[in-house]
Amino acid sequence: MIAEAEKYLKEYFGYVQFRRGQKNIIEKVFEKQRVLGVMPTGGGKSLCYQIPSLLLDGLTVVISPLISLMKDQVDEINEAGIPATYINSSLTYEETEQCMKDLQNGEYRLLYLAPERLEHQAFLHKIKKVPISLIAIDEAHCLSQWGHDFRPSYLTIPRFLDFAGRNISVLALTATATPQVSADISRALSISEDNVILTGFKRENLTFSVIKGQDRDSYLTDYIKKHREQAGIVYAATRKEVERLHHKFTNENIKAEKYHGGMTAENRAVGQERFVYDESNVMVATTAFGMGINKSNVRFVLHAQMPRNIESYYQEAGRAGRDGSESDCILFFSPKDIHTHQYLIEQSRLDEPRKEMEYNKLRQMVNYCHTEDCLQNYILKYFGEEPKDTCGTCLHCTDDRSLKDATTEAQMVFSCVKRMRERYGKTLVSQVLTGSSNQKLRQLRLDTLSTYGLLKDQSQKQVNEFIDFLLAHQYLQLIEGAYPVLKLTNRALHVLKGKQKVKKKETLKAKNVDKENPLF
Ligand code: ADP
Repeated sequence: MIAEAEKYLKEYFGYVQFRRGQKNIIEKVFEKQRVLGVMPTGGGKSLCYQIPSLLLDGLTVVISPLISLMKDQVDEINEAGIPATYINSSLTYEETEQCMKDLQNGEYRLLYLAPERLEHQAFLHKIKKVPISLIAIDEAHCLSQWGHDFRPSYLTIPRFLDFAGRNISVLALTATATPQVSADISRALSISEDNVILTGFKRENLTFSVIKGQDRDSYLTDYIKKHREQAGIVYAATRKEVERLHHKFTNENIKAEKYHGGMTAENRAVGQERFVYDESNVMVATTAFGMGINKSNVRFVLHAQMPRNIESYYQEAGRAGRDGSESDCILFFSPKDIHTHQYLIEQSRLDEPRKEMEYNKLRQMVNYCHTEDCLQNYILKYFGEEPKDTCGTCLHCTDDRSLKDATTEAQMVFSCVKRMRERYGKTLVSQVLTGSSNQKLRQLRLDTLSTYGLLKDQSQKQVNEFIDFLLAHQYLQLIEGAYPVLKLTNRALHVLKGKQKVKKKETLKAKNVDKENPLF
């Protein structure tokens, strides 16, 4: 059957061979197994069920949360010559009825469904009459409470699988699964460990950078102007910020579109179309934009604000370079963004353990912005991989500043944290170290500590940045809560005992504040 699948790959899609993971997944699907495929964005997940849908006897059902995109997805597949349809809340009763009849008559190979539909008794009653061969679950991380995008409606899927019967292949797909999330999905869907197929998260053609301490608007504008011939996405955190940046770019004669939830569906569609068909250079959008948009020649994804976790960041940044050509992923970091996310988590209705998890994810996102290690590897490790080599292309891999020994400085910070009994946050620690005359500090008698003023030749900002570096490199950890508190890790204890050294890149200037940045 796999030989036939290869034939169809050429016939229907015009591709010469399967990509990593695709063949393995498809083989298991043919064997009527339950499989979880974890592939990066742009890795070619859809083909893993589209091709089997042509070869299996019964219908392939695809469960997807992206109602607004279903029509586009289905149109695209129909264009490739595969008869497909969808059922969701945008259809009228009559349209749904007609669709069910056509399905019963075997007119379609593929059916796209929103998970909510699995709770409709009338639907279940009718679909029971249609032989199903494969159930594919797109964005399967939505099943996990530990994922970044948990959707309660996904919890109906295991019941639907039971309902559909035993002799059916099940294929769960996601681009963003930490080991914990992947274990969660496997448990919920009874997928054995051998059937979890990871193709690796590495995206060789993406160049990652984090930019700090620069004027964001002028950097963005300059960057886009220097890449006028290319397509790119600028992600902003809020609708207001999308509007502001869009206005600014348009004033600078940049051909820009915008996309956010506050616009009418029609206006969004017009802008999206112009961007997809290369009539515009840039799309300025909130995170609402991008899921399921199959534009392969996006050459850059710029984040004007930091997303709230690595999963979201990698998913959004991963929309660059789906065609395999070199592309840039640049993230602007401003400490303000941390507070915004903290506020949103605090205000959310999540229970305490879940809030803690969100804080933890946010912390790892912040650490990404402060690490000096390979940025691609930082992400890969986050997803549980153990990369052997560095990427060689990210901002840090190409940063040729030499390393300096920062052990003594680090020891000063650690002993200060220790003397403060690991009960205070970053601001107070850096105030003590720089010998601040702040009143609160005096009230707490922290000015009597032997570490008071040890780093008085540095500004508080510099010491703060150094603490961020120590956090990112796991010498310190921040215990979140209403007042986040700094604590020492075992690594810091080794440094204090003189058993380990701390090395840091020279100063913080060089490339990321250099106007002649090679990213341009
Ligand atoms: P994902 O859902 O994993 O993000 P898609 O399924 O949208 O990725 O595929 C990304 C792009 O790669 C699409 O344009 C798709 O047609 C293309 N693609 C998928 N499989 C192959 C293959 N074997 N060879 C070449 N291109 C492929």
